[in-house]
Order: sequence, then structure tokens, then C-alpha cells
Amino acid sequence: MEQIRNQAVAKLKEIHECFQDAAEQLPAYQEMLRFFEVLYEIQESDTTSPLPHDLEQRLSSVPRQNGSSKPLIGRKNFTNDPAATGKLLHIICKAASSQGSEIAHAASVLNASLQNDAPSIQVAFAWYLREDDASLRLLSQELGMDKKILIFFLYHSIWPSLARQVRYLQAHDRINPMWSSPSCPVCGSSPNLAYFSETGKRHLVCGFCRYEWSVQRILCPYCENDDPESISYIYSEQEKAYRIYTCTQCKRYIKTVDKRQLSRKFYAPLESLVTLHLDLQAESMGFKGNDDLHLFGG
Ligand SMILES: [Zn+2]
Ligand SMILES: [Zn+2]
Repeated sequence: MEQIRNQAVAKLKEIHECFQDAAEQLPAYQEMLRFFEVLYEIQESDTTSPLPHDLEQRLSSVPRQNGSSKPLIGRKNFTNDPAATGKLLHIICKAASSQGSEIAHAASVLNASLQNDAPSIQVAFAWYLREDDASLRLLSQELGMDKKILIFFLYHSIWPSLARQVRYLQAHDRINPMWSSPSCPVCGSSPNLAYFSETGKRHLVCGFCRYEWSVQRILCPYCENDDPESISYIYSEQEKAYRIYTCTQCKRYIKTVDKRQLSRKFYAPLESLVTLHLDLQAESMGFKGNDDLHLFGG
């Protein structure tokens, strides 16, 4: 536990430095970065809490993935830890109360629902994991907020609990280290960011649980196309650390960060945020990204 805590302290320091460097290098993003730094620090701090005993027991019965091509647990089988997510939602709502009017309004409505012990909020976490879009839409209408904003709060409040579940599975060698499919080995979601490591190896970052795994260099994360003729990338001399990989077979794209060219430490959610202009560029060229892109806050 002590080791996990020390790792978390080091991680928080690293995140702070990443955000500081990014704010200096990218003044246009400064204001947005201030809020997201607080948000990600809240999240990372929470990943050190222990898993509830019943949840740990449940995960201990998950068999090793070995050579299976199925995701280890799947998004729907993550467990919501109501005490942890409720507490986080409250903290995030407080941090969001100084944001733009729409976010601040949603934060105060959600906080009031939490104070009143409204059961619908806790149920909403389960709907979110199950991707029950119709129920989430109804709830967002009831609460008078955009569904995307409701999902933003749900996702950021539940992620630390998901991260703790993923960490348990990783520490207990349940995840197949040789997994080479472009969907997440843990939850089966699509990646929403890729990066090249210091050795040039390509990794994908899950758009939902943020697990990272390595894959072959030429492989579309959406349609699994590996034909080099239909996979190419867009690149600008002004931003050497970034590429947008496109697939002409499914007309989708994934942003890719080259760590060897990045002038700050790599933190996936931050890089996803400060490259929103690349999403606009890819979309203007007729390519579509990951539908879950907003999950990182973009
Ligand atoms: Zn995942
Ligand atoms: Zn494709």
C-alpha cells in the first residue's frame, strides 16, 4: 500500500509538471488546462484507495486471459463502487463550480441530487457502464442538462474506481501481455489515442479505462485493416510530436503522439486535450474519431 501511495505522489508531481509545461508552451489552452489539471489530480489521488473487499473477491475469481481473444472483463462487468464514485462526484462538482455556466450549472444540479441522496445518480453509474443510452437521455432531460455533460461527470467520477480494478487485474497477472488486437484487452473499448514509445514501439490507450498496450505499427484500431496502402498519416513540421493516422477503408482516424519528439513528459489525457485542433482537422477532411472522445474531456 505504501508503495502505491509513493507511486501516486510521484504521479501527481509528474502530472503537475506536464500541465505546467503544456500551459507555458500552449497559451491558448491555458484556461482549460487549469481545470483539467485539478480534475486529473483529483482522479489520480483517488486511485490509491483500496478496493472494497467484496469487489476484490469478485475480481480474484476472474481467470487469466492467456491466449483468449475476448476482453478480460468487458465494460459492462466493471463494478461500480457507489461510496467511492459518490464521493468523487461531489469533489468534481465542487471543482467544476467555477467553470463555464453550462458545466457549473450541471455541477450544482448534480451536487444537489447527491445531497438529497437521489438514487437515480447511483443508478446512472450502472446505466453508464451498461451503455444504457435511453435511460441516460431521460435522466439528463429530468436534470435539465446536456447528456454529454452528464456523461462527462459520470465518467470522471467513476474512472478512478475502474483504474483500481484494472490495477488489481494487472498486479495479479490476469491480462494477456501478448494481446495484439486494437480493442482494449480489459474492457473491449476502442482506443482514443496512440503513441510511439522511446524505442518507436506503437501503443494504444483505451478510451474508456485508459489501459495501454502495444500493437503493430500499421493497424487501424477500428476496422483492423493492416493494408499499408490505405493507412497513412497527416503530419505538420510545426508539430513534430503529433500525427493523425487515417484509414481510408473505414474513414476513421486516431491521433498519435511521438514521445521522442515531445518536449514534455507524456500524460495521455493531457495530450488528448491539447490536440483538439487535430480532431477538427481530421473531421474537416471527412474522417471520424472515437465516439467516446469526450471521455478524456475533449
Ligand atoms: Zn479499456
Ligand atoms: Zn479502418
